[in-house]
Amino acid sequence: MDSVGIFAAEHLAVGLVSGNALAGPLQLFPEEPADAGDLIEMPVEDLARQICTQVQVVLGGCAASAVGLAVPGLIRGGVIEESPNLPQLKGVNLGERIAALLRDNGIGVPVVVINDAAAVAAGLAATREQLHKVVRVWTLGDGVGFGRYPAVEGANEGGHMIVTLDPAERYCGCGGRGHLESIMGHRAMRKRFLDMEPEEVFAEAREGDIRCRDFVRLWHRAFAAATATSIHLDGPGHFYITGPNARFVDLELFDSYLDQMVTMSPLQSNSFEMVPRNDEIAVIGAAVAAQVAGGQKQS
Ligand SMILES: [Zn+2]
Repeated sequence: MDSVGIFAAEHLAVGLVSGNALAGPLQLFPEEPADAGDLIEMPVEDLARQICTQVQVVLGGCAASAVGLAVPGLIRGGVIEESPNLPQLKGVNLGERIAALLRDNGIGVPVVVINDAAAVAAGLAATREQLHKVVRVWTLGDGVGFGRYPAVEGANEGGHMIVTLDPAERYCGCGGRGHLESIMGHRAMRKRFLDMEPEEVFAEAREGDIRCRDFVRLWHRAFAAATATSIHLDGPGHFYITGPNARFVDLELFDSYLDQMVTMSPLQSNSFEMVPRNDEIAVIGAAVAAQVAGGQKQS
């Protein structure tokens, strides 16, 4: 049976998924990209209703085996414990609310809530026939997300890995010191370079500006450090790099730092691949993760 995937961040994207691919067009809300960001203002009850409406549209009267909802934030046991981008969701079991609304409309289906980076990892695994492998993905944007497929129980806040003991590194959105996001996050870079946009920092570094060049090196060292930590804990493998700021990554520089940090030969067989971020991957991943979660409950 088909399942439904939902990606909720600055906008909503909802799609019907069949056999690891979209089975119809994506439903977007708001329909105009210019209105994106409206979700952050929306009360929880309205947001749940809007999601329910979109799910009904993509189902068009058909049944689904599962609904997967991907949201940015720390999710445990179905509860969104922290969500800086959609703060109204903190402490809310959004899956249960949506399932109840769907039931009221005659649709009985389990709703599984997962982290958006985990959904992207599941989507990449599903669309690239890697569901039998461990897939890891870095999402570089305002914040830094780290997703893994298969999902593991835990907080999975890879963007907040400690990459430096320098107490001056305090730009992370969470307020913690020394975090990866404090160096790599878009918002954090704007706080550090009050007079320059991140694009300008990377451009000036290429022109030889010393302050910018030193920062770009630090940015890549931090990225290599967090990746090395994941390799040391979880083993070597294939990593995807996506998100708007993947364009800043110099893979050669990153590799040279990683080589200095991961020296045990059984851990050195790693590969890295840039992929464009799109709603489709996250929607497919949310649906696939919901199917997997449903299957585990039944067995
Ligand atoms: Zn942090």
